[in-house]
Amino acid sequence: MTMLKDRLSYLPFELSILEGASVPEKSYNALRNQYESLLFLDLARQYPGDRVLGITDVDLFAEPLNFVFGQAEISGKAAVISLSRLKGKKKIYYSRTVKEAVHELGHTFGLRHCDEETCVMHFSNCLAETDLKGEKYCASCDKDLRRKGFS
Ligand SMILES: [Zn+2]
Ligand SMILES: [Zn+2]
Repeated sequence: MTMLKDRLSYLPFELSILEGASVPEKSYNALRNQYESLLFLDLARQYPGDRVLGITDVDLFAEPLNFVFGQAEISGKAAVISLSRLKGKKKIYYSRTVKEAVHELGHTFGLRHCDEETCVMHFSNCLAETDLKGEKYCASCDKDLRRKGFS
């Protein structure tokens, strides 16, 4: 997704984007008809780069949640997102994808969820919440990132 690479290019680290990567077959749960995101995260971690972002079209879950838009290692290198629930008109679909990517990458730098509804680190459990938040870290999260050596 060239759009994503372009829109994430301001981030100050080397990012590998795994596009169309296959989520491990053993992560498939037939009862749920979903894939467990943790195994996809394990796969992403094996690729080179300061940070690796895995992108898939399949629906992901992580217990105890019914589904996840994405998942990341807190202070690790791997993050994954699923596009399956982000679909919509191109502009909004792209924006949701950027938000979920920036959010999960924020976790890899140790950021936790932010109470500020418009901050990209706000937890979103539904698209309405994703659509409400912005594509950027709020001033407080940004400060936190800088403290963690991200500039
Ligand atoms: Zn999160
Ligand atoms: Zn914030």
